[in-house]
Amino acid sequence: MRPPVKPSIKSLSLDELTAHLKTAGQPAYRARQITDWLYKKRVTSFDAMSDLPQSLRDQLGDVFEFRQLETVRVLGSADTTRKFLVRLYDGSLIESVLIPASPALYGERSDRRTICLSTQVGCAYGCRFCASGLDGWKRNLMADEIVDQIIAVERESGEHIDNIVFMGMGEPLANLENLLRALQIINQPWGLEIGARHITISTSGLAPQIRKLAEQPTQFRLAISLHGATDEVRSQIMPVNRKYNLETLLAACDYYVQRKRRILFEYILIDGINDTDEQAHQLAKHARRLSAKINLIPYNDVEGLEWSRPPRERQEQFHAILRQHGVVATLRREKGHDIAAACGQLRLQVARAETAPVKQDPAAVS
Ligand code: SAH
Ligand code: SF4
Repeated sequence: MRPPVKPSIKSLSLDELTAHLKTAGQPAYRARQITDWLYKKRVTSFDAMSDLPQSLRDQLGDVFEFRQLETVRVLGSADTTRKFLVRLYDGSLIESVLIPASPALYGERSDRRTICLSTQVGCAYGCRFCASGLDGWKRNLMADEIVDQIIAVERESGEHIDNIVFMGMGEPLANLENLLRALQIINQPWGLEIGARHITISTSGLAPQIRKLAEQPTQFRLAISLHGATDEVRSQIMPVNRKYNLETLLAACDYYVQRKRRILFEYILIDGINDTDEQAHQLAKHARRLSAKINLIPYNDVEGLEWSRPPRERQEQFHAILRQHGVVATLRREKGHDIAAACGQLRLQVARAETAPVKQDPAAVS
């Protein structure tokens, strides 16, 4: 597949589109007509934009790329978590995961349909337990590739998505510029119009970028992949901690929270690594400092990695200690969430097996 030479029409903000139209001698209202075709009616070509003059449709086609993502494989069924394997324009594979309801995400019940989005092909951060980083980093996703995952999954599933988590493959804050561009399109009334309170960005802890995000005018939710409550434990499983240690990370989180934004800690429980009583006490201390909620996620096995989840009793004891400290914490039980938490695994299996693309694989995720 050839790399795109022209900018993608779906990477532009309304203001940028308006500015382009102005230089082309077109009235400003055309910009809103175009975004309606792209994000409300979801057409797949410039030619389908029937209320634009033909000359303008031709001109847009000369200047911009009109492309859409292709879902090549679907795992799961309508009432469970569904994983969509998505092929990008250069043939790279990423995953987008559709979660039917999200009871544990913020520790509250919700009937929202959540999509878990990828922001990079692979990941450079190499957390020891994660499938996404196993084959290293390949490239950043463009803004339209981030947004188009939502459109492609809605088209394929027939569902309406109203909650977004950036917990798929890649480190969102390492692709901050394209992420912010995509967030605008996802959030603005002229785009997909999903409220900022329904958008959660997850990071392994890039402290400087957390501060930049705090300075954005829109208040997105932030999830921190903590996974270790002391430098000793965290550095053992997350190399990023050697660059931004816990205190540097927590100070950036303080800054985020001071700007009246909510933080959630994600904490995978890995047997014998980060599941001790001492870690639980330390974790509670950090959560209290930031008034953060905690999502405990029993580790999901990854083929080729030696880690495993602690026995149920250990998980519950860890959870109980957090509650003794008065911290709001949830312990995931649903299978669907386990699957969603392990983004990166389907892509890895498929890429490694070099399986021929199958459109719809009815085999439920077991
Ligand atoms: N790079 C970002 C976004 C990815 S989020 C980040 O790390 O936050 C994906 C979440 O799933 C992260 O919290 C990650 O630590 C977690 N995860 C990765 N591998 C997992 C596994 N095998 N089991 C459970 N959770 C896992
Ligand atoms: Fe990258 Fe996040 Fe996986 Fe770490 S947990 S390797 S940062 S995707």
